[in-house]
Amino acid sequence: MPGRVPGRNFLFVPGPTNVPDRVQRAMVVAMEDHRSSKFPDLSTSVLNDLKSVFKTSTGQVFIFPSSGTGAWEAALTNTLSPGDRILAARFGQFSHLWIDMAQRLGYEVEVLDVEWGEGVPLDRYEEILRADRRHEIKGVLACHNETATGVTSDIGGVRRALDAAGHPALLYVDAVSSLASIDFRMDEWRVDLAVSGSQKGLMLPAGLGLLAVSRKALEAIPGAKSRRCYFDLNDMIKANASGYFPYTPALPMLYGLRESLNIIFEEGLDQIFFRHHYLAEGVRAAVTRGWRLGLCAREPKWYSDTVSAVVVPEGINGAHVIDVAFRRYNLALGAGLAKVAGKVFRIGHLGDLNELMLMGAIAGAEMAMLDVGIEVTPGSGVAAASNYWRSHDPAPRKKVSREEQFYESHSTGSIQG
Ligand SMILES: *Cc1c(COP(=O)(O)O)cnc(C)c1O
Repeated sequence: MPGRVPGRNFLFVPGPTNVPDRVQRAMVVAMEDHRSSKFPDLSTSVLNDLKSVFKTSTGQVFIFPSSGTGAWEAALTNTLSPGDRILAARFGQFSHLWIDMAQRLGYEVEVLDVEWGEGVPLDRYEEILRADRRHEIKGVLACHNETATGVTSDIGGVRRALDAAGHPALLYVDAVSSLASIDFRMDEWRVDLAVSGSQKGLMLPAGLGLLAVSRKALEAIPGAKSRRCYFDLNDMIKANASGYFPYTPALPMLYGLRESLNIIFEEGLDQIFFRHHYLAEGVRAAVTRGWRLGLCAREPKWYSDTVSAVVVPEGINGAHVIDVAFRRYNLALGAGLAKVAGKVFRIGHLGDLNELMLMGAIAGAEMAMLDVGIEVTPGSGVAAASNYWRSHDPAPRKKVSREEQFYESHSTGSIQG
C-alpha cells in the first residue's frame, strides 16, 4: 500500500457528519460556571429553538449529555412500567437496537420483522392496534429514518394507523438521522416522544441526546414505574425550569448547538429539507443510472434523503470497498451493519454538504469499487450525478412577481458576471 496522500479526510459516514467551521469555532470556549446567573441565557435559547426544529409548540425538549442511545432510554423509562407491551418493527440495525434495549429494560415487545430495505408496515400496525381492544399496548415505536438501510418511514401514516384504530398508545419516534434534514413534524403527527442526537443533521460532534416530549407523554411520567435515575425527566424538568441542568452540562456542545441552530435558521428548515432531497437524488442517480447498482431501499417510497446503502455485486465484500476507500483515498464510507454486513456500503449525505463535496464521495467510491474488481464504468457515477444536479434547481423555484420577472430577464449580471 503506497503512503497516503495528504489533504482532507472525506467524511461520508451517516454520522458523525461534517462539523461546519463556524460550529467548530463556536465550541472553542473557556470553561465557565454552569450555575452562574448568565448560563440560563444559553440553555433557554437552545431549548426553545430546538422546539422549532422538532416542529412542536406544545411539547418540551430535553438535552442529555449522552448520545442518541441515551435519549432512547430516557423516552422509554420515563413513560413506561416494567412488563408494558410495546409494538415495534425491525428492519435494520437501529430499529433492532431500540427493540433490544426495550427488551433488556423489561418491556414486552411485539416485534414485526420486516424485510431490510422496507420500513414501518402501516397496515400491520393498524391491524394489531385494532385487535388490541383492551389497549394493552402502551407504546408504538417507529424508526423514522433507518440509517443502516437508507429507508425512511411514513410517521404521519403511523399516526393515522393509531387514529384509525382509535388507540391511545404513546407514539415513540427515532428521529436521530432525520431531524434537521428530513421533514419531521412532532405536533402535526402527534408524536409523543421524539429522540435525536447531535452528530447527524445538527452537524455537531456526538455528545448530546435530544428528547422532545408531548404534553400527553409528560402526563404519563408520574405513572411510569420503570427505574431511572440519570435519565429521570423529573430532575430535568425541575432544573430546566430556571435554565439549569441537574448535573454538569456539556458546555462547548451547547455553544456549538447554539451556532448550529443559527446556521439552520439562516438556511431555513424547508430549504434544508429541499437540499437534502436534491443532493440525495444526485447520489441515487450515480448509484442506479451511473453505476447500475441497486439500493438497499426496495422502492422509491422508502428512499432516504440522508443516507444511501449501495448493494455491492454478488461475490464482492462491501467491507473491502470501504477499506480501500479509507486507506487509499482517505474517504470514509459507512459500513454494512449486521444482516447487511459485507453486502452494502453506505454514503451519508446529510448535514453540511453540497454537490461538489458529494462528488468527492462518489468519485472515491467509484475508484475503490474499480480497485476491488467491481465493473462499474469509470466516471459513470460522477456523470450521472452531474447530469442530475446541473439540470435541477438547488432550491424550490420562487413564485416571483411580474416586476421581479422583468428585472431578472433584463439584468445583465445574473449569468455571466
Ligand atoms: C445514529 C443513530 C442512533 C444512535 O445514536 P448514537 O448517538 O450513536 O447513540 C439511533 N438511531 C438512528 C436511526 C441513528 O441513525
